[in-house]
Amino acid sequence: MTNTPPVCNYEGSDYQQSFWEQGGRAYEDKAEAIALKRMLPKSGKLMLEVGAGAGRNTPRYAGFERIVVMDYSTTQLAQAQERLGRSDKYIFVAADVYRLPFRNGLFDGATMIRVLHHMADAPKALAQIQSTLQPGATFILEFANKLNLKAILRYWLGKQAWSPFTLEPVEFVKLNFDFHPKAIRQWLGSLGFNLEKILTVSHFRLGLLKRLIPSSLLAAVDGLFQPTGALFQLTPSVFVKAVLPGDPNTDVPLNVIDLFKCPDCNSGGLQEKTDHVHCPSCKAKWPFKDGIYDFRDKMK
Ligand SMILES: [Zn+2]
Repeated sequence: MTNTPPVCNYEGSDYQQSFWEQGGRAYEDKAEAIALKRMLPKSGKLMLEVGAGAGRNTPRYAGFERIVVMDYSTTQLAQAQERLGRSDKYIFVAADVYRLPFRNGLFDGATMIRVLHHMADAPKALAQIQSTLQPGATFILEFANKLNLKAILRYWLGKQAWSPFTLEPVEFVKLNFDFHPKAIRQWLGSLGFNLEKILTVSHFRLGLLKRLIPSSLLAAVDGLFQPTGALFQLTPSVFVKAVLPGDPNTDVPLNVIDLFKCPDCNSGGLQEKTDHVHCPSCKAKWPFKDGIYDFRDKMK
């Protein structure tokens, strides 16, 4: 039906549990919290969290009045809902980042953390997000950096075929990509973003250090090094704060249904029904089930 790049689907995955809770990643999680705190606006109206997964980072965006918790996987969103609860503050949406179901110029904040990593067409995904943002909006993007110290050493020692110094993304495992910081800066720049801050994160992603040093201490030391990202980026993970020029427009629709557009025909004016969202223009029916708006596949 549509011609969009493949997506990495975490449907049915225990990613939150196996990777974050039992995977010894308390240090990375805490280091990310420090970076986010340094980049997030104090407050905001409406945040779009792209690739929210099980909602690990979502409570960190509490300064925003409402948060659209978006993921491709409904099972991840169900876990997020369990963690965050159902309230007017959170709007759970299953969607494909290449076909976003949101009206243009809506959000004053967006984040995409540990997600670009899975994108076969990163510039296309970034352009989609950009179009949903208001003037003056803040976009916080984390990406996996191909120009990291380990990759550079391995390349110099002849243990790795691909060069960390070239601008194109490297797909080191199927649907897992690392990016060159300069390529990211160019993509964001060409979409009109000003880069206000760059932080390097996870300076100490080494098993030995993580075993020997408590995660809070290691994250705090990581925090001391993060601002060096303004000068050079050699860590496996990099955070960028990108801001659109202009003044925000403060009237964000109050009704959830008015946030959406049909991802098939791009029309607004969608109608809320009991178990679906109806598009009067193309007659598409998008399921609404268990508190999750699902804009991936139409109802038959
Ligand atoms: Zn439609």
